[in-house]
Amino acid sequence: VSDFTEDDLVAMVRKLLGGEAVGVRLGAGDDAALVEFGHYLGILTTDMLVEGVHFERSSISPRDLGHKGLTVNVSDVAAMGGSPRYGLASIGLPDDVEMPWVVELYGGMLEAAADYGMSLVGGDTNRADRVVLSMTVTGEVDPGAVVTRGGGRPGERIVVTGRLGAAAGGLLLSRVPSQQMTGPVVEHGRELLAALTRPVARVGEGQALARSGATAMIDLSDGLAKDLGRLCAQSEVGAAVRLADVPVSPGLEELRDVLGADPLDLALHGGEDYELLATLPGEAVPAAAETLWEAFATRLTEIGEIREGRGLVAVAPDGSEGPLDPKGWDHFGG
Ligand SMILES: [Mg+2]
Repeated sequence: VSDFTEDDLVAMVRKLLGGEAVGVRLGAGDDAALVEFGHYLGILTTDMLVEGVHFERSSISPRDLGHKGLTVNVSDVAAMGGSPRYGLASIGLPDDVEMPWVVELYGGMLEAAADYGMSLVGGDTNRADRVVLSMTVTGEVDPGAVVTRGGGRPGERIVVTGRLGAAAGGLLLSRVPSQQMTGPVVEHGRELLAALTRPVARVGEGQALARSGATAMIDLSDGLAKDLGRLCAQSEVGAAVRLADVPVSPGLEELRDVLGADPLDLALHGGEDYELLATLPGEAVPAAAETLWEAFATRLTEIGEIREGRGLVAVAPDGSEGPLDPKGWDHFGG
């Protein structure tokens, strides 16, 4: 039995989302929010997280869930070279959810909004048979700086920010029995679990890559192989990935036995890293890497090249080539 009414919930959410914010003429409380859009291209993106499909209430805190729900949308704005501005949060709640849980959920969203310099301006609340979190984010981008998935050309280099596989490692680790969580497992494990529960959207990096001449870009939500395949399909090209150059997250090698998974496999096929993958002309790569390192302390690694034709190829350290097939990434993995 629920301890609050629909009106209680709406009043609470309005209070949480209230207050002055740059560009917001009218926030939550009217039929719609009024915001200033300016002389830029608008970016609109939405993402839904469903309990039992994308997360379990028992394995993520409401604060982390709220933070992640907004961050994954911001990541899509980043992948267009844009800047996030406003967010709408619609939630469905079953009867066994209590008010403090909801306050924590919004606390996480507001924390993420502050992290990315954007405002939450409204949304909708409903009863549901499980927790559903649907978030919409708007962003803006200068028309000359927008980067889609469709601009990759043969001969260009494929680059990726950060290191890959940590979130997938975190998901595997969350299933490891607690008696195995000792010493180095705890030490490296903390980073892997944080990658899963607190992903970071590469907003500044996306804009810097756009300025550095990126011709196509995508954020890695479903794994390198799958998302590179999506970029290539949209660009009507193929790609070759040098396996030895794929930046594997530190900690995965040390925990290989505990996780029971090959680190490279996690880096190629694990999802939810939210790093950016982009294509760049070869001569633009060194300056782009220097910019990302100096401005954000973010690594930019060249992992291969765009080719004519279709299909993804993995290049082994000895130069031999084989198909790089995307494996499915199960976001919840239960
Ligand atoms: Mg995306």
